[in-house]
Amino acid sequence: RTPVLSVRNVGVEFPTRHGLLTATEGVSFDIAPGEILGMVGESGAGKSLTGMSVIGLLEPPGRLSAGEIWLESERIDTLSLRERQRVRGRKIGAIFQDPLTSLHPLFTVGKQLCETIRYHLGLDKKAARARALELLNQVGIPGAEQRIDHYPHQFSGGMRQRVVIALALAAGPSLIIADEPTTALDVSVQAQITALLKQLCRENGTAILLVTHDMGVIAETADRVAVMYAGRVVEIGPALDVIQRPRHPYTQGLMNSIPSLKIRAEALNQIDGSMPRLDSMPQGCAFHPRCSFAGPRCAKQRPPLAAVGENMSAACWLHQGGVNGDA
Ligand code: SF4
Ligand code: MG
Repeated sequence: RTPVLSVRNVGVEFPTRHGLLTATEGVSFDIAPGEILGMVGESGAGKSLTGMSVIGLLEPPGRLSAGEIWLESERIDTLSLRERQRVRGRKIGAIFQDPLTSLHPLFTVGKQLCETIRYHLGLDKKAARARALELLNQVGIPGAEQRIDHYPHQFSGGMRQRVVIALALAAGPSLIIADEPTTALDVSVQAQITALLKQLCRENGTAILLVTHDMGVIAETADRVAVMYAGRVVEIGPALDVIQRPRHPYTQGLMNSIPSLKIRAEALNQIDGSMPRLDSMPQGCAFHPRCSFAGPRCAKQRPPLAAVGENMSAACWLHQGGVNGDA
C-alpha cells in the first residue's frame, strides 16, 4: 500500500547569530492509510517541529535543512506557500493542544465549519450546513442541531476539542496531525477523545500523526510508535513491540516512567539528567551522558537507525556490534 505520508530524511534548522542550530536531523517515517503513528518524546525532542514541517507551518526562522515530504505521491515540501495552504486545509487537518487556538471566539461553530467546507469543497450554503451537521454528529456532539449555532465558549473543553476534530475533518483530509490533542483536557475526557480519533481514523481511512509526550496515550491509540530524542528518531516500530520490548535504553526509561504499564519485572531507574540543548549536543550518541549502558564507542560515534527485528529499528550500538568497538 502506498503510504499517505512519507517523510524522508527531514531536518529542521535555525539560523542564529552563532551559526546554524540543528533542531532535527534525518527524520524518516511513513504512515499508511487508516494508520496512527504515535510520535513520543520529551518536550524539545523535535516532535512538534516534525509535525509543523509536515503541515508547512514551521515558524521562521526555522526552516527545512534537508529531506523530502510526500503526501499521497505529491511532494509537498517544495510547493509554493499558496499551494501549501491549499494542501493544508484540503488534505491535512490539524488538531492542537488548546482547542481555542483553532476556533474563532466570535463565530458560531456552524459558521466556522461551513466556511471551511465551502472554501475547500466548494459546496453551496445549504449543502455545507448539512455537511457541518453530519460532522458534528460524527464526532459525537449531542444535540448537534442546536449546538451548531452555539459559540465556542458555550462548549466544555472536551466538546470543544470534538468541534476542532470536526473542523480538521471538514475537507475530508487524508492526513491529520494531532499535537498533544488531549493534554489540556480532563483525564476523564482524554480517553473519549483518543477513542474518537481512533474510530474516525478507521472509518475514514485517515492517517494520523499523533504527537504526544504521554506514553499512555500512545499505548491506547497508536498502531506504530516513533520515539524521538534530541532531534532524531531513536526507535520506531509497532506500538505493542515498542511498549513491551523497547530496544533503545531511552525508550526503556520512558516506559518505566508510566507506573500503570507493568512492562518489566525488574524496576528500571528513571532516566537521570535532561535532554541536551541544541547548542550543546554531545558527540556520538546524544543519549550517552544519561545512558547506563554507554560504552566508549557511544561517546565517539553516532549510532544509525537500523533494523533490530521485524519492522523494528533502533539507533543504539547495543544492537549493532556493541558499545566497546570503535570501528
Ligand atoms: Fe546508550 Fe550507547 Fe545505545 Fe546510546 S548507543 S543508547 S549511549 S548504549
Ligand atoms: Mg510540542
